Amino acid sequence: MEAGSLPPEDSRPLFGAGLNNIWNTCFLNAVLQCLTHTVPLVEKLRASDHYSTCSAGPGEFCALCALRHHIDNCLYLSGYVFTPKHFASNLSKILSEFELGSQEDAHEFLQCLLIRVHDCCIGLVSGNQLLSVGDDTDSLIKQVFGGRAISRLRCSDCGHVSDTFESLLDLSLGIDGMASLTEALESYTKVEMLEPSECDGCHAKVPKEKQLKLDQAPQVALFHLKRFKMDGAGVCKINNLVEFPLDLDLQPFLSSPQDEEQLNYDLYAVVVHHGNMDRGHYFSFIRSSQSSWHLMDDADVARCSAMQVLNMPAYMLFYIKQGSSPWISSFIRDWRDKNFGFGESSRRSSSMDSPETREDQSPGTDDTPESVIYEVEGDSSSSAPLRPCNQGGISYGAEKKPPLDEVMKQSAHH
Ligand SMILES: [Zn+2]
Ligand SMILES: [Zn+2]
Repeated sequence: MEAGSLPPEDSRPLFGAGLNNIWNTCFLNAVLQCLTHTVPLVEKLRASDHYSTCSAGPGEFCALCALRHHIDNCLYLSGYVFTPKHFASNLSKILSEFELGSQEDAHEFLQCLLIRVHDCCIGLVSGNQLLSVGDDTDSLIKQVFGGRAISRLRCSDCGHVSDTFESLLDLSLGIDGMASLTEALESYTKVEMLEPSECDGCHAKVPKEKQLKLDQAPQVALFHLKRFKMDGAGVCKINNLVEFPLDLDLQPFLSSPQDEEQLNYDLYAVVVHHGNMDRGHYFSFIRSSQSSWHLMDDADVARCSAMQVLNMPAYMLFYIKQGSSPWISSFIRDWRDKNFGFGESSRRSSSMDSPETREDQSPGTDDTPESVIYEVEGDSSSSAPLRPCNQGGISYGAEKKPPLDEVMKQSAHH
């Protein structure tokens, strides 16, 4: 890409770029879009000193560096489309079973990617250690997504209680027969009666009550709605709509309600799977401010309404604790302001100086120089040249509402 081919910073959208689909990589694109628009993750990746001290050698894949590069590209190239080649060509480094060209499960990809990034944070760059996040390690992934569940067994006779804890990065919820996310959460936390077994308190063989609750609420609450289930010989898909709110109160699902802390969450990203087991397509929606939603369907980016998002058969839902982070639009505005300066960028007319020659870049910034960004993705030399979003039909813009039915129809041919 030529320096100077981007319009002035302050006229470009305040959310990330669209992503080309290489070869059935919609699962990858949908997940990357949600992560790119997770502001605390972006902030922590940028603040991390891993980037300058990474021990990955040439040819080695580091999930943390890859994600940070990708997000930098996405935010820098907003209003454009690029190809996430680095991820696409390293899918098997995230999970050995992943293969470019085959339709993978977006949730499985997300889980593996988060754990790989966590591993990078604690110093494991490559290797086959997987796939859980232990209690004893901390990482930026755990700081953003990490919560904890408590499983409590109570003797129905003497009341003896025993607790076990499990660290979580997301919550998988059964949705068969469920009408809403709240109902699925109620079902997840409902009291179950277990078969009689010996009690550690009274030593009698008695039935016990078991209840799962959240013990520590995460900053970002990620819900996976289990739409794929084993059915006899194969897997089938549950297609029903599961209602989900724009704002969610997690307080009722906590083991010990915390009066001081408010636990209201804002929905900010959604992954949808359209189609069935044989033919399907993933796309996502992201929220860039209180009132702005965008469909991110591979290279197609379109403005849409919250209502349109709420009517989707969601597969994964991303909620963020209210007030814990700015919206991505504010984040991008601040970032551009700090790095380019609105006044400066318009005075420079349409030319974007290369970072090497730009003298007015704020000192002490930890943002990746653009030269590094382009080395990684190298779109200028690729067969899919950088192009503005939405040349392919759906146009974004405040006035024109995207024809989502059509998106759904288009989704089918994949
Ligand atoms: Zn690294
Ligand atoms: Zn007992």
